[in-house]
Amino acid sequence: MKIDRRKKDKNDSTCNICLDEIKLSKDHVPPKGVTGGADVVYSNWLGQKLLANQNPRLQQSQSGFYFQTICSSCNSRMNRGDSFLKELSKSIIKIIESPLIIEYPLTVKTRPNAVIRAILGHLLASKRQVDSMVFDDLVRPCLQDYSLPIPKDIHLYCWIHPFQKTFIIRDLCMQISKEAGFDIDNISHFHFLKFYPLGFAITATPEFEGIKNLDNFHDYPLEAEGEFKLNLAPINSENWPHDAEYRDFLAFGKTGADGLTAKNK
Ligand SMILES: [Zn+2]
Repeated sequence: MKIDRRKKDKNDSTCNICLDEIKLSKDHVPPKGVTGGADVVYSNWLGQKLLANQNPRLQQSQSGFYFQTICSSCNSRMNRGDSFLKELSKSIIKIIESPLIIEYPLTVKTRPNAVIRAILGHLLASKRQVDSMVFDDLVRPCLQDYSLPIPKDIHLYCWIHPFQKTFIIRDLCMQISKEAGFDIDNISHFHFLKFYPLGFAITATPEFEGIKNLDNFHDYPLEAEGEFKLNLAPINSENWPHDAEYRDFLAFGKTGADGLTAKNK
């Protein structure tokens, strides 16, 4: 049976954000404005990379990749954040594609709080079922009421992802650092959204791979201007850090195994 990983199971019409039973709309991940809305080919991340399947089954999606999992009100609430995310991405692309020598960290002006909410919203939308995982329950309120701060118990990390391949991975448990071994305190729950030119990780750990977290923007005014200081990832690979090469321990349930990679056609 062919599984369409973009849509919910047939009878489920619950919005992943507000939990209303309602007609669901298409949420493009990453937003169309960021990618230009080109047709994409996509495949299962787990099959392609972790199981070293050299011939993954490719599916196609016209005008970008989308999930039909959230209602139109929750979807449109993210529009402002998406427009700032688009501006941020464009500024970074302009710098990294210029012939000049780049000095890191790149300092780029953006509207951090709105951008972070857009990323959280797209990650909640990136699941074919409504879930009550800790992350989902924690962020639902601040995605419905933008006057609420982003919860302190989640931490966002952002870096430059200079690769064309998009990764959308939810609910992956893995080591916070490979060097710290198998100690239970070294395992955390992660979500990744990576697309050209940005990588985002969301997790419960306040320190991750020397990347500065974005915690100081959690209760920042929604559309106030702020600066992202961005480095390249510590390891220059499109598969960093959620790959067996960089972690000795990775665990996932159905949603983790549903993770996707996508590329423009
Ligand atoms: Zn909704």
